[in-house]
Amino acid sequence: MLRPRPGHDRTRRRPSAGRFRATGRPACGRDRRGPVGLAAAAHLAERGIDFLVLEAGEQVAASVAHWGHVRVFSPWQYDIDSAARRLLQADGWSAPDPEWLPTGAELVSDYLAPLAELFGDRVRTNARVSAISRLGYDRVRTAGREEAPFLIRLADGGELQAGAIIDASGTYTSPNVLGASGLPAHGEDTAAGVVDHALPDVLGADRDRYEGRRVLVVGAGHSAATTLLALAQLDATPITWAIRAGHATRTYGGGDADALPARGALGSRLHALVESGRIQLLTGFFTHRVRTTGDGVELISRAPSGAEQSITVDRIVSATGYRPDRSLASELRLDLDPILGSARRPAPVIDPNQHSCGTVPAHGVDELTHPEPGYYAIGVKSYGRAPTFLMATGYEQARSVVAALAGDWEAARDVQLDLPETGVCSPAWPRRRSSGPDWPAASAAACCPPRSQAWAPRRRTTAAAAADPLRVRALPLERSVRDVRRISHRGPARGPSSHL
Ligand SMILES: Cc1cc2nc3c(=O)[nH]c(=O)nc-3n(C[C@H](O)[C@H](O)[C@H](O)COP(=O)(O)OP(=O)(O)OC[C@H]3O[C@@H](n4cnc5c(N)ncnc54)[C@H](O)[C@@H]3O)c2cc1C
Repeated sequence: MLRPRPGHDRTRRRPSAGRFRATGRPACGRDRRGPVGLAAAAHLAERGIDFLVLEAGEQVAASVAHWGHVRVFSPWQYDIDSAARRLLQADGWSAPDPEWLPTGAELVSDYLAPLAELFGDRVRTNARVSAISRLGYDRVRTAGREEAPFLIRLADGGELQAGAIIDASGTYTSPNVLGASGLPAHGEDTAAGVVDHALPDVLGADRDRYEGRRVLVVGAGHSAATTLLALAQLDATPITWAIRAGHATRTYGGGDADALPARGALGSRLHALVESGRIQLLTGFFTHRVRTTGDGVELISRAPSGAEQSITVDRIVSATGYRPDRSLASELRLDLDPILGSARRPAPVIDPNQHSCGTVPAHGVDELTHPEPGYYAIGVKSYGRAPTFLMATGYEQARSVVAALAGDWEAARDVQLDLPETGVCSPAWPRRRSSGPDWPAASAAACCPPRSQAWAPRRRTTAAAAADPLRVRALPLERSVRDVRRISHRGPARGPSSHL
């Protein structure tokens, strides 16, 4: 438990020097405060960089709180950021059991809320960001752009300015549609009263809406699996599960081979329920139309071949994933992957078309830099529509980006990540091997080769990493002269390409 000391705020240190000293505006306006946003705040506080956190919800980590009834599959040891841990422990907090799997509610009450408390009035709730731009600059205007502060417009009409933006606004508040082609299914809007987005609390607050009803769950990810397992505990509740794919192998996951046993068990238990007939699985289901009838709500699938099938139920859970809301930053210059809408460089290794390992090579500020100097999207938003994001990845992103903002490029580029694999991808993800020149060959040998190797071949590995194959300490990518020049925070280029 956190025991705040009255009148004492150990995080409120002033920056000793540097470009991020506050001058009438926060040096870093970090909009949003989920786990990754709050981790960034912890690193900013440790480095003495002034900041302001803006959270749309009424409470800290509003999205996590929304799925508070869900028990996560990664134990506490993967869920706490290093800087946050240091700040909290210095304030008398005792870390939870590292092996325990917290619920979303426990993540908030035992970790995120006490952390936010440390930052006092530098965290604002009910502060929804509606748009971000640069003061006096639309996306087209260039001359002097790097010197202009960011302009943050709030939903209540207020405006703020900041020297840098860390956008950790997540994707939870912008779910995908039911329609199989990425467009809303015909009638989807009018059926909103019988459709819930992932993850309704079917064993708790939302039980009355589900128990004894015919329920359809659409989607093939962890959210769908979690909801299906909960529904299976309700009496007299017929459950149907619809997916676009021809089989559910990916959702069933790696079972015992998963490095996170709870994640492996999720798929295994679902598989058993389908096999037993408790859950009816509809494969090749391409939602085309939703229609309310006298008997309930009918969902009609139309496959690309034109073949149709339909099912009538009482309620639908749309667990079709999430997409980032990029409209907030539409006046900024972003370099996004055309498939995922993620940062471009990590895209090849998180693309679900290519792999489901649950791992990603260590990455940080170099991979998350956009053409808009000083703007970084981190956390699950950095993954775009890719579904395998883990908090630990976001914490390392936060650490690296904040180190760069502080001008500590050595720390910013000493990225490390040790993620638990799903067990679906074998024989070996290349991160376990040298990430040097043979990385492309290793990728090709893996079951889940990245769709492009443009990112990987330029990585190098330290001697320490070579000695410890389970922990990759990747040196930064060599960056082009053009890349380096357009980064306002002017991290030095590394290696041969650093001669400007
Ligand atoms: C049900 C579920 C279970 C998961 N289980 C695990 C797990 O076991 N292990 C794991 O590592 N990961 C897990 N994840 C994945 C991921 O780690 C979490 O989604 C995590 O919460 C992502 O953190 P984030 O800070 O990037 O985004 P979020 O937690 O989504 O936080 C974003 C915050 O930004 C706020 N916001 C949004 N828009 C605005 C705006 N315009 N203005 C101001 N604020 C805004 C939101 O209210 C929210 O508080 C799980 C995800 C889900 C949904």
